[in-house]
Amino acid sequence: MIPQHHYVSCVGCGTRVHAYDYATFSCPNRDDLPEANHILQKKHMITAALWQRSELEDSKNPFVRYRHRLLGYHRTLNARHSDVDYLERIAQLDGALKAIDGRTFSETPMSIERELADAINLAPTQNLYVKDETNNVAGSHKARHLFGILLNLAPESLKKPFAIASCGNAALAAAVVAKAAGAKLEVYIPTDAEPSVVEKLKSLGANLHICERVDGQLGDPCYLQSLEAVKNGAIPFTCQGPDNGLSIEGGSTLAYEIFDWWKANKYDCHHMFVQVGGGALASSSAQALADVMRYDPLNNLPRFHTVQTRGAFPLARAYDRVVKLIDARLKGLPLPDLKPMTDDMEPALRAEMHSVAAVQERLTMADCIRSAWDSTEVQSVIRIAANRKNIFMWPWESTPHSVAHGILDDETYDWFAILCTMLRTGGIPLVADEEHLVRAHELAHNYTAIRPSATGSAGLAGVMLMKEANAIPDYENIQIYFTGIER
Ligand SMILES: [Zn+2]
Repeated sequence: MIPQHHYVSCVGCGTRVHAYDYATFSCPNRDDLPEANHILQKKHMITAALWQRSELEDSKNPFVRYRHRLLGYHRTLNARHSDVDYLERIAQLDGALKAIDGRTFSETPMSIERELADAINLAPTQNLYVKDETNNVAGSHKARHLFGILLNLAPESLKKPFAIASCGNAALAAAVVAKAAGAKLEVYIPTDAEPSVVEKLKSLGANLHICERVDGQLGDPCYLQSLEAVKNGAIPFTCQGPDNGLSIEGGSTLAYEIFDWWKANKYDCHHMFVQVGGGALASSSAQALADVMRYDPLNNLPRFHTVQTRGAFPLARAYDRVVKLIDARLKGLPLPDLKPMTDDMEPALRAEMHSVAAVQERLTMADCIRSAWDSTEVQSVIRIAANRKNIFMWPWESTPHSVAHGILDDETYDWFAILCTMLRTGGIPLVADEEHLVRAHELAHNYTAIRPSATGSAGLAGVMLMKEANAIPDYENIQIYFTGIER
């Protein structure tokens, strides 16, 4: 049973939700206080003793190995089921996943990619660690997020429709996981969704809704329609944290595997790069990093960097605006007056501020914020970011395009946890141009045996930008994810 001090709470408004409240996925104050940054996060769920239980597990299934860290597991126990019942359920779902997708959840490979490291001019003394997510269930990391949600649901929830807005890997993952659970899935897709993905979704039994953009409407029409479905009783079966805070813990198991691998091999890591669209992978990794530092600290806390495209970089824009406020506070100046949902800079000019030439200066500022992280000056701005979301994060105004089309989300839904992790670790947001994204994709295919999409290799483009800026010393090691297989 979960002790009473365990709960789920909202990052933005502080509202607490009971850990056994199976029907609440997003903050109940979301509509009443739209300006706050509402994301439910589990708090104090585990202890160091529960954390270490994974060391006793032989299973390669992350939902078995790390189960003592998962709310879904503790909810199972709370419903008067046993550990054996939980394992039996995983085994049943495993069987269904194998029948549907030919594979089930298992630890995904980590490798040191020497040839790729040489190709981007890293020093021989430097390691480039790659987490290969391309062979995960449904071909990407998305299924882990969604399976984590599934394990948190009460049995009666399986009778309700599940809803997701996605045009790619998340929808495919949702379709596979929902089918394994015997649930009905409603998928909200754009008019230009890839025909091969549409066919696959149909073959998995998903019910498709094609959503057109409406002139003057801000935000992704698929997302807006999926929210309507949830209001009408559907389960938000999504990787977007504000709509379902439970999507984060399944994704965190990927980072748990990375940390275990570093530790088992006695490797240090100095930089972690994560490609960001909606932000679930980065948010999961960020929260896993906070977990490991609390319960079993790494020798070295890596800088946590993010990578977006020049097509849309709402997270980098939010970071810039937060840093502008922090800079003023640290200098003892009045806070600049930032207008909600209005950038004072053209996107092209802001992208230039994230070019190779600016990286060194950004890292210097990031170092300054990292060392002042606990100060009143920095923390007071963090509270503003939590409470006044629309000053920092709002949907991208123009329709974005990039070869890395899987990370073109209008909004970084899980931006707050990612932002805080960048700031407290001295990481920065990278904004990659198309040339680097295309090159990263080519190099991944030419110098490794992994076959990621251009979206899936976007993190490498960030490494290349930082290396070109001479901002990675020769003794520092780097972690990236290759997510999303080329289809
Ligand atoms: Zn809230």
